Amino acid sequence: MQNIVDFIKQAFHTDEFIPLHEPRFIGNEKKYLNDCIDSTFVSSVGKYVDTFEKEFALKVGSKFAIATVNGTSALHVSLLLADVKKDDEVITQPLTFIATCNAISYIGASPIFVDVDLDTMGLSPKSLKDFLETHCEIKENQCVNKTTKKIIKACVPMHAFGHPCRIEKIKEICDKWNIVLVEDAAESLGSYYKNKHTGTFGKLGAFSFNGNKIITSGGGGVIVTDDEVLAKRAKHITTTAKIPHPFEYVHDEIGYNYRMPNLNAALLVAQLEKLDTFLESKRELALKYKEFFSNENINFIEEPQDSKSNYWLQAVLLSDALQRDEFLKFTNQNGVMTRPIWRLMNELEMFKDCQKTTLENAKYLEQRVVNIPSSVIL
Ligand SMILES: *Cc1c(COP(=O)(O)O)cnc(C)c1O
Repeated sequence: MQNIVDFIKQAFHTDEFIPLHEPRFIGNEKKYLNDCIDSTFVSSVGKYVDTFEKEFALKVGSKFAIATVNGTSALHVSLLLADVKKDDEVITQPLTFIATCNAISYIGASPIFVDVDLDTMGLSPKSLKDFLETHCEIKENQCVNKTTKKIIKACVPMHAFGHPCRIEKIKEICDKWNIVLVEDAAESLGSYYKNKHTGTFGKLGAFSFNGNKIITSGGGGVIVTDDEVLAKRAKHITTTAKIPHPFEYVHDEIGYNYRMPNLNAALLVAQLEKLDTFLESKRELALKYKEFFSNENINFIEEPQDSKSNYWLQAVLLSDALQRDEFLKFTNQNGVMTRPIWRLMNELEMFKDCQKTTLENAKYLEQRVVNIPSSVIL
């Protein structure tokens, strides 16, 4: 194990503690932040929010982008716009960050967990199809769960650590079953499936700019969609549902204060300018890791077929839970931060009674996947 620690310290050119993922501010961040402060428009309106939304939509190839205060709120609003209501059901994967299930729960809907694919770590189209064919029927154009009698409104696959899942196939199945596809693309800015950006396959896609993501606004998120009506509604309900008026405050529904402050957008515009540089650096690191770990007989997780991954958080697949625990212990005790993949959502107290498939692959990965330092190397 010592050679793993040595290799990582060498790769990051340091003998000090190596975190899992640190942000990098190497562009116009300070310039735009100063400009933002000088303008006094630090809060709800300002040119950086508009610039960011335009630039982001262009970058991922969506028609519209709506900035939000974080990725969780972007998901929450995306699900509301997918018409998910209290007591509806939403299919997702058990192997994800808690935000996916929290957003579903904020509406009073419940998650259903289907298995993931071993190679993508994302929602398995096969498991999805099996579940729907076994448990569901179409009634009055809606997908009804025969076990719970509830309506399955949406499906939220997640592109784990930036590796795209089989999104095309998932979309095909969702279309057939009248289920709205909402992508949790929080981790996958810069990742493509068959040359199309992740987050743009679904009716709506949500991204996060939390401090540990590939680019950051401190905290922030964005919703993307090609649907102009949904885009307008997204802007409206994330900005308290206020009817535009020069001085009067009139609101036409219960909205949310989910807007991204201009100050955060200023930071984000500068970060977005550096995305391509970050992506290159991460790909280089992935190549180095791949070569090194193959000599160690440890499985480095590579981008799946038909995909280009952003390699946001790099990961290894260890042979069993024992080897994983040794790996975690040794690296963390020797100044190299590593972290196991998430606990399965269906094992958490809040979601333990949710309907689920067998989840064999998710359980397999949960026991073996460990994230390793992935920051952009300067
Ligand atoms: C980061 C992340 C989110 C959103 O997180 P925020 O901290 O609210 O920006 C959602 N889903 C996944 C899978 C994530 O990794």
